[in-house]
Amino acid sequence: MRRGSVELRGIHIAHNKMTAEMQTTQMPLPEQIILPMQQHVGAACKPQVRRKAHVDVGTLVGHADARMTCDIFSPVSGTVKQVRTIHYSNGWSSEAVIIEPDGEQTMDASLHRPEVNDYASLVEAVRHSGIVGLGGAGFPTWLKMDTDLSHIDTWLVNGAECEPYLSSDYREMIERPDTLLEGIKACLDLSGVPRSLICIEDNKPKAIELLRSLAADDGRIDVFVLPARYPQGASRVILRNVTGRSVPRGGHLTDVGALLFNVTTMSEIGRYLRDGVPLTKRRITVMGDAIQKPQNLEVLIGTPIREILEHCGLVCDPAKVVIGGPMMGVTQVELDSPIVRANSGLLAFSKSNVHTPHTTACIRCDKCIDSCPIHLAPVDIQKAYLRRDVAELDELMADLCVECGTCSYVCPAQQPLAQSTRLARAMLRAEQRKAKRRG
Ligand code: SF4
Ligand code: SF4
Repeated sequence: MRRGSVELRGIHIAHNKMTAEMQTTQMPLPEQIILPMQQHVGAACKPQVRRKAHVDVGTLVGHADARMTCDIFSPVSGTVKQVRTIHYSNGWSSEAVIIEPDGEQTMDASLHRPEVNDYASLVEAVRHSGIVGLGGAGFPTWLKMDTDLSHIDTWLVNGAECEPYLSSDYREMIERPDTLLEGIKACLDLSGVPRSLICIEDNKPKAIELLRSLAADDGRIDVFVLPARYPQGASRVILRNVTGRSVPRGGHLTDVGALLFNVTTMSEIGRYLRDGVPLTKRRITVMGDAIQKPQNLEVLIGTPIREILEHCGLVCDPAKVVIGGPMMGVTQVELDSPIVRANSGLLAFSKSNVHTPHTTACIRCDKCIDSCPIHLAPVDIQKAYLRRDVAELDELMADLCVECGTCSYVCPAQQPLAQSTRLARAMLRAEQRKAKRRG
């Protein structure tokens, strides 16, 4: 039987980062803002405002009395038009607050620069900043920080951005290195963690050079250059390739002495400590052959996808719209859905660039196994999943899948391996949770 291990691999893939050297531009105010109350890992927020209420930039709009959650703030001044349920492409639904901007962009009077003098107050500040993992994870950042740091020796900052097309993290490093370094220094100063490594793929030499020179006066901070290889930015992959450590099965990075933050997340911490304005906007890469003007665009969180596509222009009716990158992104069918905090890309493709897989029988070439970054056996996982064989999925360690899509990409038979592995992982994790509850 082929079994998974933590030895790491990956693939070379065309980068297609044509927007990388484009300065970020700002999108004008949209006609409306749609703020879903579930846009992070954890408990959904409850709306804190009612229809017809006035809000300002930074007004608290969503909050939950739970530990694993993250407050949501208004990115505009204006009037709450509706509080209603919205549905996502993946079948989920949540309440959403819909706001009509008044064009004034007045700031909420209660906003202030957070007072931070020790690590507990830093965590508390980040708790009220609305910052979640901005590389796509959406995990509440303050919760990641609220951990026992006694054995943490490395704070990794992930600037790999290995997904093709996307360049929003790269622009963050180039355009806001000051807030990035301020965030890192605050975290190191107050946590006592001795070092931070900014991890960047070697296809971003300008960012490497810039951050190396700006961090030269702080011996705790260094840039770690990684070969450009997909999925270099996956947490287990980057940890192994930078520190040589592996996360034990069922464990976390903190179990092996490391924390890992996305580069834009860390920069937002630095920015928030400076101005006290919670996260209400972010940069996304808008690209694809259906887009007239590909660009890096700063958008308000809650801006409808349709308005962004109209702003960037379309050369044809897009046959496929993807939120995120082409490898791990999610196809979006509802264009009135908004951009939320964890989204870093919006791609639109014409019919000629949309590939409909023609699946044939497995030819046992083992390419999926040879390329899986954590040495899983996707072809075996798919078979076990189709048999609903949870014990076999456990043997095959399907729960370790990082959902990178590499196996589907390399398969000559065009088997939907990544989808099967994702479903298998969910099935196995559900069984593991049930077993835990049974004790
Ligand atoms: S998606 Fe495929 S290649 Fe990526 S980790 Fe999962 S099984 Fe391996
Ligand atoms: S890559 Fe595709 S064809 Fe090759 S072993 Fe895996 S599933 Fe079979």
